Amino acid sequence: MSEATVIKPDLQFVNEIIKGGGESLKKCYQCATCSVVCNVTPEGNPFPRKEMVLAQWGQKDKLITSADVWLCHQCSDCTAYCPRGAKPGEVLNAIRKQSIKHVAMVPFFARIATEAKLLPVLFAIPMVLFYVILVVLGNAGFTAPRAEGNIMAYHKFVPVPVIDTVFILTAIFAATSAFVGIKRLWNGMKAQAGEMQSSGSLVGDIISSVTTILAHSKFADCNVNRTRQWGHMLLFYSFAGLAVVTTWAIVYLYGFELLGIQPFGPFHFGESPYPNSDPVKILALASSIAFAAGIVILLLNRLSKAGKAGMGSYFDWIFLTIVTGVGATGMLSWALRLADMQAGYFVYYLHLVFIWSLFAYAPYSKFAHLFYRTTAMVFAKNSGRDKK
Ligand code: SF4
Ligand code: SF4
Repeated sequence: MSEATVIKPDLQFVNEIIKGGGESLKKCYQCATCSVVCNVTPEGNPFPRKEMVLAQWGQKDKLITSADVWLCHQCSDCTAYCPRGAKPGEVLNAIRKQSIKHVAMVPFFARIATEAKLLPVLFAIPMVLFYVILVVLGNAGFTAPRAEGNIMAYHKFVPVPVIDTVFILTAIFAATSAFVGIKRLWNGMKAQAGEMQSSGSLVGDIISSVTTILAHSKFADCNVNRTRQWGHMLLFYSFAGLAVVTTWAIVYLYGFELLGIQPFGPFHFGESPYPNSDPVKILALASSIAFAAGIVILLLNRLSKAGKAGMGSYFDWIFLTIVTGVGATGMLSWALRLADMQAGYFVYYLHLVFIWSLFAYAPYSKFAHLFYRTTAMVFAKNSGRDKK
């Protein structure tokens, strides 16, 4: 006679999923419609039906480092077609939140970035940090000396070397956190897969996955949330554009100060602010417009599809709030500087707070999907899991 299998549910895990946006979990009656309509899942052993039953049974170990949970692109086709309103897309999102907490290098940061009750702490950390810097600089009254030509300039409010120091340290923290999280997730996925047959070309799998991400081709498989592809793509490439702008500004400043490169043609080596005709300003403006358009599309898409796809959880909204805050304060501080209005200094302070929040919490917030979904996609290719 075969032995009975005893399943030990982790009830705290079930409760955390329910509280974290998966409140409809228990409605699932395992009809499998969701796995049928999902165009992203591989065919063998498809998701998300099996994740729904594993979550109901509190099988934390099987879900917390599951590649399939991260392969989901949250397109919500399954949620739209679920006959029970169990919202499997939202449940998988709630499981991903638990996965982030599980692999986090600094668990308290993961709590700050994912729990609504810790929202004041989330913003208090960068607000205090930058206010202390302003006190040390003697600019705590949100004023600053004028720059050459009697113009308002934010580098007189917070000098560039101070900004560079704070954000280089923040970037090191975020990169280390992401590396630790990726390693823990990869090891967990490997342990679950057991004896896996490697494709033998990790580099090739990374290139192939990055190509898929750059083209956003997986989003094209979605039906209900098809417009999300364009919002996500605009946001993705605007971040890339703004990263180039930041690097470009560093080259301008230190190329002038350390290498003595003088302005030539349209390129203004030296201290900011640069004229609006400079290519770096044109790229910054184009990226900002793409950024704003991406945010608007994502917000409108989320609101207009709420009935079918769900409204999302705090986890989604706090990320969208921070991203929107970065864009809104960035554009407003730029406009206030052009209008020579002192309020620009306070808005610029808020801008620094939002940017720090975006980067420092990146491996702990919804932003982490950039690292962990990429990891899962590479793993799926490398282990043969992604076969259709
Ligand atoms: S989540 Fe909905 S569609 Fe999927 S198995 Fe459960 S009841 Fe069926
Ligand atoms: S949200 Fe989309 S990708 Fe994720 S399981 Fe549902 S249908 Fe598949």
